[in-house]
Amino acid sequence: MQSITSSNKMLECVYNLRSKGLQIGFVPTMGALHAGHLSLIEASNRENDITICSVFVNPSQFNDPSDFEKYPRNLDHDLGLLERGGCNIVFTPSVEQVYPEADLETYQLGDISEILEGTKRPGHFNGMASVIKRFFELTKPHRAYFGLKDYQQCMVVEVLVKNYHLPVEIVSCPILREPSGLAMSSRNERLTQEGKATAVHLSKCLQVMKNSGPKKNISELIKLGNDYLANINSVDLEYLEARDASNLSEPSIHTTKEIVVLVAAQIEGVRLLDNMTMTYGQVPE
Ligand code: AMP
Repeated sequence: MQSITSSNKMLECVYNLRSKGLQIGFVPTMGALHAGHLSLIEASNRENDITICSVFVNPSQFNDPSDFEKYPRNLDHDLGLLERGGCNIVFTPSVEQVYPEADLETYQLGDISEILEGTKRPGHFNGMASVIKRFFELTKPHRAYFGLKDYQQCMVVEVLVKNYHLPVEIVSCPILREPSGLAMSSRNERLTQEGKATAVHLSKCLQVMKNSGPKKNISELIKLGNDYLANINSVDLEYLEARDASNLSEPSIHTTKEIVVLVAAQIEGVRLLDNMTMTYGQVPE
């Protein structure tokens, strides 16, 4: 595995790869890697000749400075996992390499960036767009791989690509879960055993909602989820919302076939996300 820290070296490297006609897959990460990240690398390896993975904790997408400070970092561990996971090139630039000057642009990311995470974390999607656009420019991938764990992020990246005519195909990959059902996340590292046991209830709640079967009535479904979480101590719920899975709009009984239920909650001061898709509106009158 080749390791690159300089933006110029990265550009030189992808220029060489592209001149040989090789297909490049790119997996952006913030490190503290786990099997969820490795599943994106596997997907990239299946569809490309070369996989580039970035490890960069992007300051501009953290609206809470203490969240940025506390974000888990362990590069040696990450490099070992990436090597074993089949990554060909790891890109670990400094902030100065990515942003020689601060990016002051306000990105056009559509209405989809204004709801849910966009409301709860002002500036988050703008910072994410800024770093992803730069990384696409530096790694020039044919395809880039994102996890549906960050469902809204996948959709916002699609808008970024469309609005800025970026020549890259976005591939959204399924959520990897622990055997308990807990969605794998770098942030889980900050939980105690007890916190992890509590966090399992986020996925359990979504599963209970899914198992309850197709619904005509979204408020009934959300009530089921809220009632479930109300019985769990130490879950500080930020939102539990059902949206049209295709565009995150409010579901309509007439047009929506699949919904996604998205949850954001703090447990032991750690902010966790999860989501699950389920069918909708197929119950006879
Ligand atoms: P992060 O390092 O948290 O920024 O995540 C980097 C990429 O890995 C993002 O596209 C995430 O959506 C994806 N990812 C994180 N956790 C998982 C998971 N449990 N399953 C699949 N993809 C994931």
